[in-house]
Amino acid sequence: MLQRPGYKKFIFSFLLILCLFLSVTPVMADSAWNLALDGRILGGVPVRDNGRMTMVSIGVMGRLLQLKLEHKDDTLLIFYKNNKLQLVNKATAVWLDVQLVPMASAPVFEGGNWWLDSRSAIKILQALYQAAGSAASLSWAGDAVEASSLNKNVKNPEKKQDEAEAAILPASIPVVPSSTPASLVSSGGMRPCELKALRWGRYDDKIRAVFDYQGETEPQSSQTGQNVSIAFTEGSLSKTETLSPFPTDVLIETASSEGKYIITLSSIKGGELKVFTLPNPARLVVDIYNPKNEVLPAPVAVSNLKPAPKPVAEQASEPKEPVFVPAKVVPRKSAPLVVIDAGHGGKDPGAVANGYREKDLNLQYARQLAECVKKRGFRVRLTRDTDVYLKLGERTDLANKWEADMFISIHANALPKGRHANGTEIYIMALPTDKDAMELALIENRELTGDNGSESSAQVDKKTKMLLNILGNMQQNAKISDSTEVAEHLFKSGQKQKINMRRVAQAPFFVLRGATMPAVLIETGFLTERSEAKKLATPSFQKQFAEAIAQGVETYFNGR
Ligand SMILES: [Zn+2]
Repeated sequence: MLQRPGYKKFIFSFLLILCLFLSVTPVMADSAWNLALDGRILGGVPVRDNGRMTMVSIGVMGRLLQLKLEHKDDTLLIFYKNNKLQLVNKATAVWLDVQLVPMASAPVFEGGNWWLDSRSAIKILQALYQAAGSAASLSWAGDAVEASSLNKNVKNPEKKQDEAEAAILPASIPVVPSSTPASLVSSGGMRPCELKALRWGRYDDKIRAVFDYQGETEPQSSQTGQNVSIAFTEGSLSKTETLSPFPTDVLIETASSEGKYIITLSSIKGGELKVFTLPNPARLVVDIYNPKNEVLPAPVAVSNLKPAPKPVAEQASEPKEPVFVPAKVVPRKSAPLVVIDAGHGGKDPGAVANGYREKDLNLQYARQLAECVKKRGFRVRLTRDTDVYLKLGERTDLANKWEADMFISIHANALPKGRHANGTEIYIMALPTDKDAMELALIENRELTGDNGSESSAQVDKKTKMLLNILGNMQQNAKISDSTEVAEHLFKSGQKQKINMRRVAQAPFFVLRGATMPAVLIETGFLTERSEAKKLATPSFQKQFAEAIAQGVETYFNGR
């Protein structure tokens, strides 16, 4: 009898705990964050925690923003006006039109949703708006939808993300580097000034860093010797953003101190530094004039040089600035060297169809093209001029060793029985345009390891996935934009010469991976189409084709 009150209390406690458990668990799984556009809440976006970061449904974000979405196989396309984002399942970078944007994590397609970490999701959608000329501002706002008061994580979404990233990012550790001026660290409170983005550009005479910000006041800045420090009250750089795109000229250090986030551009090599702010949109600009390793050699004949990208004037009336790092143009004394690579060879015949072997045709095209390119005053070398087998990596190793200015790998396409297509395709190494491009890359990425045996398809898949991740590396950007330009020149020239040009596309080709110069892969045509195979083998067509491609090489280098 005496036990009764205790027993009741136990039951009551048990039920209370059960209720709490039941009320909390579904909220954790189905909770949502509010998405705001220019401070106006649009609605809730499903979130889930993967233990490291908070993942959000980017498809739902797109729908709330009334963007056009297209889901194809491994790819999600998001459109706004004339611009396009392309996400690939498990790839840590997205395409914004032709520009590659690295992310903190890879999107994952699961349970009918595309999940991406909350910061990257805002970053890439914001970039899409910016590309379309819109100043719209996206953010996570206010209290979470359906959030229980017990679920503190959902109450304060950004904080959780900060903590998660702080755990893995050394850049967030609040250690004040020696280069941080005392005036910025200790000058007490500062009116709100939020860092929104850091962008870089290289011009003829300078490197420019642009800090976009928002707030009541300009960021505080301070210059000591060859260091410039800028303080913000909010916002921070992601891990990739703390890597300088020009590490030999300038480094980036970050520190948090007394409620300020301080970015220091340090170890600046070069002459004069200029720091100034501009309105609409608010930004602080740091110009580093004549970085030392960009001092150009004595003037040389420039007839065979690509013109350097023209700087865009930093004016209030011209808010659009280059958002990518323009490629370096280093003058050389001799004519540009084009390395031409005939795909496959020796024990590896490549595609075989309609009585033709790809390796033979590739070599014929490579020789023809070499002749036509040479005739136009360029230097040319072939990776193979006989029927020998070269590994994929050896081909670009040669191009790198010879310090080539362009790498062209020549192949012929093939389709499985029952599928038909024709025409020439030009590929650059990047995230795949579509499933066909991806499948082609998987076929071309096959490498013969033994005398007879080829690599297992699992190995090839693994290698290709690895390539997708490498593409997330920012250092690739300049090369990709150059390679795209080469591809477009070759494509247009082919069209002019009445070659049946099918498309310029992207796929992670292993043979292009190691190239340190602009590199393209040409699929001359489809061997599996009888009439096309016959045409591809005709010497007169080969000559016409080679002339067209050589013309494209010339317009690329000479800008004509
Ligand atoms: Zn091939």
